[in-house]
Formats: sequence, structure tokens, C-alpha cells
Amino acid sequence: MIRPRLVPQGASLADRQGRRLDYLRLAVTDRCNLRCRYCMPAKGIDLVSHADLLSFEEAERLIGLFADLGLRKLRVTGGEPLVRSGTLGFMAAVGRAYPSLELLLTTNGLLLERHLPAIVAAGVKRVNVSLDSLDPATWSRLTRRDGHAAVLASIRAVQEAGLGLKINVVVMGGINDHEVPGFAALTRDSDLEVRFIEAMAFDGGGGVPTAHLRATDIHARLAAYSDLTLLPGRPTEVARRFRLAGHTGTVGIIAGHTRTFCGTCNRLRLDAQGRLRTCLYGAAGLDLRALLRAGADDADLAAAVQAELAHRHTDGHAAERATNGKCSMASIGG
Ligand code: SAM
Ligand code: SF4
Repeated sequence: MIRPRLVPQGASLADRQGRRLDYLRLAVTDRCNLRCRYCMPAKGIDLVSHADLLSFEEAERLIGLFADLGLRKLRVTGGEPLVRSGTLGFMAAVGRAYPSLELLLTTNGLLLERHLPAIVAAGVKRVNVSLDSLDPATWSRLTRRDGHAAVLASIRAVQEAGLGLKINVVVMGGINDHEVPGFAALTRDSDLEVRFIEAMAFDGGGGVPTAHLRATDIHARLAAYSDLTLLPGRPTEVARRFRLAGHTGTVGIIAGHTRTFCGTCNRLRLDAQGRLRTCLYGAAGLDLRALLRAGADDADLAAAVQAELAHRHTDGHAAERATNGKCSMASIGG
């Protein structure tokens, strides 16, 4: 059935700078089966109660609204999205209701292999799997859990299923920076992308500080390993992408901490309790769950979202200056 369009004609998702926001990252949960040191403390984070989680029905309603406003891409993330029961059914429902929406998933890979058929059936064509070390002992030190082999098995399963694959690596000095060439070598014979990410200060407080490595340092490590060709990218691409000489796949460097891509950022985030963030570095803003539960109709919701976008920060540095408190990437929906 075609949903009637209830948002005002001509309404869209744009901010004061004219940036169009057509990409939503939805954290379906703040819970996680790992405890990555750069993301949260060993004891975990204060969790949102089940009653306060955005329900999947509420999330679907908001996706419909955003789709009417021009959303093109939806990433399901978390926390670990595959630990929330119902995530697969939700993705299937979204895939059916919005077939033109690009549906993506970011996962730590622990539970991915067993759920892959359902994920493919939902219409997901590309998956991001986080893997910060190729060495099981280092990986367990970083995540404070076991399960490296399960993540590797998931990565193989994604490749065998023919899905697009990006491997997210947060690069930390003295911990895994020596593995940059090893990760880059994964692109030699496989058409996958390894994305090296600067560590950002979103460890939920009490995480273990990591020696900071900048995008330029990561680039230098890659350049020492191989000749690099810069690839043309879409204007809204956060990664600078390269191909190594003679390699099939690609590598990307994401300057999440130095923030060199804010001028074209097209991302919105919805956290597990339904609060909209117009910038990764900003505070949780508009409480869409509260509006939904108060009976707001699509026109009210669209007006509230547009008002929120009207005071979107110019960039992540301005947003950070206006925000206090250190939260975990797991609650933001990284
Ligand atoms: N649990 C899933 C996972 O790890 O892929 C999805 C959520 S996780 C918050 C999404 C991405 O954020 C992961 O690739 C993770 O490595 C990254 N991330 C988490 N904390 C980060 C931090 N402090 N700095 C940079 N990236 C971070
Ligand atoms: Fe969990 Fe992902 Fe955070 Fe690691 S980065 S603790 S897997 S939410």
C-alpha cells in the first residue's frame, strides 16, 4: 500500500547552510555484547530502560516521515543492533515498506553470520563490520570479550553472500597502528573497503584513553606500505578513499576527530530513545519519541524536525564547544 504523503508539500531536510540531510543513522539499541575500550567503560554504560526505547513501530513511523522529506539512506546501528530482539523483523518491514531506501547495517560481527540470510532477505546490500585487530589476543584486549573467530567467520560469510563489505578499524597508537599494513593487505585480492577511523572522545567516560592517531598519521603509514591513488568521492563522503598499487579493493581514512568533512555532512542520527542529533558532536536534541507519544501528526513532526535543523551547528567543532559531557558512541549511534 502507498502511504499517503502527510508532510507539507515542498518540505525537505536541509539546514541553514543549505546542506541536505538524506542519510539517517538509527541506533536501535544502546546495548552491546562487547565493551570496546574506546567506546565504553568495562562496566558498560547506563542503559535506557525498555519503556524508554523507541519502539520499532515508532521507528518505522519516523522513517516514513523522513522518507517523505527526502531520506535516501538508512543505516541500522547501535549499540550492537543484532542484540535487540526484533531488529531483523524491523529491517524486513522497512525493506518492504521503503524499497527505494538504501538499507545498511553496522555491526561488530559477533552475531552476523547466523543472521545473514535474514539480513539479505531484508534487502541489505552492504554491511560494515567493525574489526580493530587481526590478532585474537589484541582484539580481546580491546573489546574485553572473546569472539574474534566469530567475527572473522561473519566477514567470510558476507563475502560469500556477495554483499558489499566495509571493515571499520579504529586506529590507536601503540595498540593496533602497526596493523595498518596488514589490514590494507586484505584489499589485495578482495573487493572490500577497509576504513581506518580516527579515535574520537566518545568512550562514555571511564573508557581507556588511547594515544591519538590522526588521519595524516594513518595516511603516512599506508603510504609507507604502498603507492596510493586517491579516488574521486561523492561530495558527502566522509572517507578519503584510496587504492593501493595492484590491489583490488580500497582503503578509506575517516578524520572523525579532526573533522574535515563537516561542510558537506548529510547525516542525521536518531538515538535508541528517539532523540535526533544533527551533529555527532552535538547534544541529543529533539525528542521525537516524546512528540510521537504525545500524539503529534506528520505535519507537527516535520515542522519540529525542520526547526531543529534550522539551528544545526556549522561544524563539529562548534557543536562540541556548545556541548558538555562525554557520552558513548554506543548511545549516539556511531
Ligand atoms: N556495535 C556496532 C559496531 O561496533 O560496529 C555498531 C555501533 S558502533 C558505535 C559503530 C562504529 O563506531 C564502530 O565501527 C566503532 O568502531 C565506532 N566507534 C565507537 N566508538 C568510537 C570512538 N570513540 N571513536 C571512533 N570510532 C568509534
Ligand atoms: Fe559495542 Fe560497537 Fe561500542 Fe564496540 S564499538 S562497544 S561493539 S557499540
